[in-house]
Amino acid sequence: MSSMEGLVGHEDVVRRFMRSLESGRLHHAWLLHGPKGIGKTSLAMELARRYLCASHAGCGHCHACRMLRAGSHPDFLFVEPLEGKRDLAIGQIRSALDFLALSGRESMRRVVLLDDAERMNPQAANALLKGLEEPSAGALLLLVCSELMLLPATVRSRCLLVPCALLDETASRRIWEIMGLDASLLSLARMLGPGTPGRAACLKDERTARAMQEWLELAGDAAKADVGKVDAWLRANLPILPATLVAELTVRMHLPCLEHELDFGRRQGIAEALQTLMRWPRDAARHTLRRAPTFLAAFLQLRAALRG
Ligand SMILES: [Zn+2]
Repeated sequence: MSSMEGLVGHEDVVRRFMRSLESGRLHHAWLLHGPKGIGKTSLAMELARRYLCASHAGCGHCHACRMLRAGSHPDFLFVEPLEGKRDLAIGQIRSALDFLALSGRESMRRVVLLDDAERMNPQAANALLKGLEEPSAGALLLLVCSELMLLPATVRSRCLLVPCALLDETASRRIWEIMGLDASLLSLARMLGPGTPGRAACLKDERTARAMQEWLELAGDAAKADVGKVDAWLRANLPILPATLVAELTVRMHLPCLEHELDFGRRQGIAEALQTLMRWPRDAARHTLRRAPTFLAAFLQLRAALRG
């Protein structure tokens, strides 16, 4: 079995972690940050596995590795926002700190993986600070975060900041392969975010994939799109698709137009229309009943700008 079980990319971070683990001066709080969809949580899992593994190789077959894979390692705790909740709550952080303060049952070591750390509310972040100031022996905190600046400076400054890079094409393809994504969806997957293959996970859902393919064909060139068909598609699909997905894809489909437009006035018009589309998910969240008409308005703005 591969020693990097399930992990694609980020070898540099794993090497850095191993060097510091072997030197005996491992920082007690690693903050892994970078865009969504690059596999930061899988990377954090790999670091946890290395830390708890009997040989520190993440061997996959020692007692610790097997328990970790089964989700039953007594010295590992995974913390994420509870389903349906926006924030990581103070109670979750307190339990995590209590967990870290106990001495390890299997290995004299304990790991907490805090996913979506930027979703800690201010009280939760304050509670965490205490734990960061008084680390207990053998305790390792792995924080995963996509929006570094949403974390309070006091938390950031007490962690080891570890930037995680975008994935290259080979690694991205490997992720899509593991996801089981159909080959016909690869160009769509790539468009959802170059270097962030995890963002294509939504395409595993067949209905979403079909709808997004339709959208790509229908609205790939807003200047030439059939407005009646666009309107019908939006009414049928916006209520069931993730709000940001359609807007992001539309923006990405038209970024080349912005790059290739030489006329300053037209360029400005296109940029403004794309900004309206980027703001749309947030606006749509505020006006839940008017998703299709508001999106159509933004799309028509883009169409007018492109036709200039
Ligand atoms: Zn092992």
